[in-house]
Amino acid sequence: MLANEIAPRALADLVRHGYWPGQERIVDAYGRVVTYLRVSLTDRCNLRCLYCMPPEGIPWLPCKDLLSFEEIVAIVEAAAACGVTKVRLTGGEPLVRKDLPNLIERIARLPGIEDLALTTNGVLLASCAKDLAHAGLRRVNVSLDTLEPEKFRRITRLGHLDEVLKGLEAAADAGLAPLKINTVIMGGLNDKEAPDLAGLTVKRDLEVRFIEYMPLDESGGCTRAGGTIEFVPSATTREHIESVLGPLQPLPSQGEYDGPALRFRIPGARGSIGFIGAMSVPFCERCNRLRLTASGELRSCLLDGGVVDVRAILRSGGGRNAVIAALRRTAELKPKVHQYLAGAFHGAMSRIGG
Ligand code: SAM
Ligand code: SF4
Repeated sequence: MLANEIAPRALADLVRHGYWPGQERIVDAYGRVVTYLRVSLTDRCNLRCLYCMPPEGIPWLPCKDLLSFEEIVAIVEAAAACGVTKVRLTGGEPLVRKDLPNLIERIARLPGIEDLALTTNGVLLASCAKDLAHAGLRRVNVSLDTLEPEKFRRITRLGHLDEVLKGLEAAADAGLAPLKINTVIMGGLNDKEAPDLAGLTVKRDLEVRFIEYMPLDESGGCTRAGGTIEFVPSATTREHIESVLGPLQPLPSQGEYDGPALRFRIPGARGSIGFIGAMSVPFCERCNRLRLTASGELRSCLLDGGVVDVRAILRSGGGRNAVIAALRRTAELKPKVHQYLAGAFHGAMSRIGG
């Protein structure tokens, strides 16, 4: 059944119970309920960040291997029927995918989807923030690792800081809120800038989130980055910020949509600061997410666990029940705690979507 064919009674049940009648929520082997789907729209990108891709990029997937909008909507609709309420569009760079507002419009009106967000490098955001908001996008996370133009160029290899700053303004003007900035901290590169980035929250209502660098294997490109990137634990970043700006006030959890960040505020600041210690303090216990790659693999975990090829299921004629079964199977494959340190990562970050 398509979203626009829902019987009024079923719709009422959906509103009341949060999922479709007859469909159980997706629960993994350890009792974690899946309510969040991250969808990578493309493996392509207009930047080549040191920590994500080699300078020459990675071999792009042929277009026929990418999920079509119809396939993406079918998978998200099936997920929403089983209680997934939050969807994040990512990539590669999601804004390079043609006709994106059309996809956003279709996902935003699916029953059950309460929160539709997007993660972007911000380069193209100034030109499309209004259209995205108009189509039904709620909010954006913009990746920004430095406020220094030359360093920005060194980290992204292709980008201009100005474009991203304009993108942030445009997102705020378009009402995409709360606005979040994702900063990957790299020792000896941008770690000393953490207090300046945190300081952006004093006058602006945004959240700056400091993310631990995840060293990827050869297929992820980092070992070809032209040198090693130094890992800095979240706790060290926080200590550094506090040594410059004073003690941070812890903020209470905002519940389901809080995500993996531990949140703080500079006393008196309008915005907030988050720390995501995926490596040093895995948040697996609270993990409520599945991932859909650009080529249609459902992944149980970014760093570990099994995958299910849902594109093959759809392209061999599988319908909604088969997709739901694939979602449930993927959830069963979620590890209790990721074994990243044992070297379990496989696949490029840009195909999986971070
Ligand atoms: N291109 C978009 C962007 O950069 O925001 C979306 C895709 S990107 C893969 C999603 C997130 O993953 C970004 O915030 C990026 O900083 C982060 N990321 C990529 N490689 C990483 C790594 N090796 N360690 C930690 N975070 C990484
Ligand atoms: Fe592109 Fe995002 Fe990867 Fe940077 S982190 S290379 S912007 S996909």
